[in-house]
Amino acid sequence: MTSSRRLNGFATRAIHAGQEADPATGSVVVPIYQTSTYKQDGVGGLRGGYEYSRSANPTRTALEECFAALEGGERGFVFASGLAGQDTVVRALLNHGDHVVVPNDAYGGTYRYFNRVARAGGIDHSIASIHDVDDVRAAIRPGVTKLVWVESPTNPLLGIADIAGIAEAAHAEGALLVVDNTFATSYLQSPIALGADIVTHSTTKYAGGHSDVIGGAVVIAKELGAKGFSDASERIEFHQNAIGGVAGPFDSWLVLRGLKTLAIRMEQHCNNAERVVEHLVSHPAVERVYYPGLPEHPGHMLAAKQMRRFGGMVSVTVKGGERAAVAVCGATQIWTLGESLGGVESLIEHPARMTHASVSGTPLEVPRNLVRLSVGIEDADDLIDDLDAALSAHG
Ligand code: PLP
Repeated sequence: MTSSRRLNGFATRAIHAGQEADPATGSVVVPIYQTSTYKQDGVGGLRGGYEYSRSANPTRTALEECFAALEGGERGFVFASGLAGQDTVVRALLNHGDHVVVPNDAYGGTYRYFNRVARAGGIDHSIASIHDVDDVRAAIRPGVTKLVWVESPTNPLLGIADIAGIAEAAHAEGALLVVDNTFATSYLQSPIALGADIVTHSTTKYAGGHSDVIGGAVVIAKELGAKGFSDASERIEFHQNAIGGVAGPFDSWLVLRGLKTLAIRMEQHCNNAERVVEHLVSHPAVERVYYPGLPEHPGHMLAAKQMRRFGGMVSVTVKGGERAAVAVCGATQIWTLGESLGGVESLIEHPARMTHASVSGTPLEVPRNLVRLSVGIEDADDLIDDLDAALSAHG
């Protein structure tokens, strides 16, 4: 389904890249090819290269091509979850004895993966402050570190990594930079243009955008900044099929549909987040607001340089400690108490007991009085009133 059309702008690419009208029927929307296998025209006579849906499926191909176009990469791959994609990258590119630099603030499941799964497979890691390029550089073991892994903004403390600076530090020692672009989205940030080699997403979040699918994406840059990885795309393609953690046709279709509205959804997520933040910074029950759009945020200037806007995720610490934070999370009416993020509906959660419970007692432990907000696209006034009532009663 490759296209010769000129797809320059982001929204045009999101709506059209990888998505030619269906060759059989003219269907404008890429169909859900809900099939496991394909009729062969004689042994080995594949139609369009399709043989078996773990290896490739046309709905998945459309989404993979769309992601590659949105991130400005060479190849896209989609998976059954964000973590399945991350695992495939690690297995495809690293060997026993290799080392990874991981961030000091990240999704709890990502750290759990490196700490308990990759490590058990002989891949060690060091933790570095992603706010400090020198700290990342110092954590790189020349010749042994093969990947530097960052999120920006981070989950849940909204830290900002200097993607260009870290890319240069990684490449100088022969390592690749992987950027988890889940919080920023392909719309707000283009890590490959800043020097990253691989971009990952939990498409469960903003890409899908409607809290109805679990998925992951991996995009490989055209030119990798470190030697020894020239076959990275082939290795990931091989491992995607050999491990088999692929996105199914319906899940691929849901994410493809989500991407079509990513640009306008993100603008509204950002508008609402800015309104919510403006209210929270002066709220008497709030201790601190974490949002890269605030001028006092330590990564504000960097975020302004490398992001289109500052995103829809906001975290706050509340006065009154963990008890107050837990009570606020349970007291909202419109904000739904739940894990995940990036859907059209606003979500509230307590990271220390929920999304980041697995990093308790590790260097990635989060403040006990932290509340994380995924600001949806409802009416901002309703969101503010609801939050205000919960904070005033319990904060
Ligand atoms: N990366 C980030 C930043 C996340 O927040 C998450 C999940 O919350 C993941 C990766 C993992 O994605 P998934 O839950 O789709 O496996």
